[in-house]
Amino acid sequence: MTDTYAVIGNPIEHSKSPEIHAHFARQTGQDIDYRRLLAPLDGFAQTVAAFIAAGGKGANVTVPFKLEACALATRLSARAQAAGAVNTLKFDGDAILGDNTDGVGLVADIVRNAGVPLAGRRILLLGAGGAARGVILPLLEQAPTALVIANRSAAKAVALAQQFAADGPILASDFADLEGPFDIVINATAASLSATLPPITADVFRRATFAYDLMYGKEPSVFMRFAVQHGAVVRDGLGMLVEQAAESFLLWRGVRPDTALVLAQLRA
Ligand code: NDP
Repeated sequence: MTDTYAVIGNPIEHSKSPEIHAHFARQTGQDIDYRRLLAPLDGFAQTVAAFIAAGGKGANVTVPFKLEACALATRLSARAQAAGAVNTLKFDGDAILGDNTDGVGLVADIVRNAGVPLAGRRILLLGAGGAARGVILPLLEQAPTALVIANRSAAKAVALAQQFAADGPILASDFADLEGPFDIVINATAASLSATLPPITADVFRRATFAYDLMYGKEPSVFMRFAVQHGAVVRDGLGMLVEQAAESFLLWRGVRPDTALVLAQLRA
């Protein structure tokens, strides 16, 4: 019998996750159906409950529900617990396992796929939402010189810097006080979804700063265009999407797909 999975978010039409999981399923010979589910902004838990009742086996969770997904899970993986955010749910009877594969996905795409080391680098992380929470610990584990977080609601960045203070050299900064340039700038805000630029200036970039936008799309985002104008080398979040999806697939199906092949197919 075909097992059913979904990606749940709002908005959701832009998601490439169904395409990626279809590639993984073909490649590994797994019989799954993976669809998009739009949840009302005030109806995430109900959407998940209805999906489970209809036989759903697991789900990816995207903007803006990663914190709610964490609260909904009855059990959390260690990395989801550290992040306080969940992007992968696995349903088993009444149990809901929450995991977070965003961080390993991002690090794999930057270090392995793009060949950019993070050790000894000064990193600026923009945003303090569900995605940002998931990537902080895996970034710190790469031993950067500094990880600076800036967020529109500054208090959230301060709280995250305090939460992860024991894990590495992390500090919060207001956008206005950012002291650039940085070796690596990661846009984990949702600004690109509305085609806006987070409130950064060109000073955060130097020549060949590596600028990474978690967002992906047919065209480079406003953030990527701004970064290129100021000398940066840019990469979108498609590789992270494929890598985090592969970790979810492994959790659900016990098989690890070949991500390089799928990323090449999607880029083509
Ligand atoms: P959340 O809704 O949890 O958080 C959104 C974050 O973006 C908050 O920090 C918010 O700031 C900030 N923000 C939103 N709009 C603006 C704006 N106009 N200017 C500045 N900051 C803004 O979303 P997620 O963390 O789940 O997702 C963030 C982005 O990352 C999305 O674009 C998502 O698609 C992408 N993503 C990509 C992945 C991939 O695999 N490539 C994986 C995960 C996420 P505030 O706190 O002030 O509201």
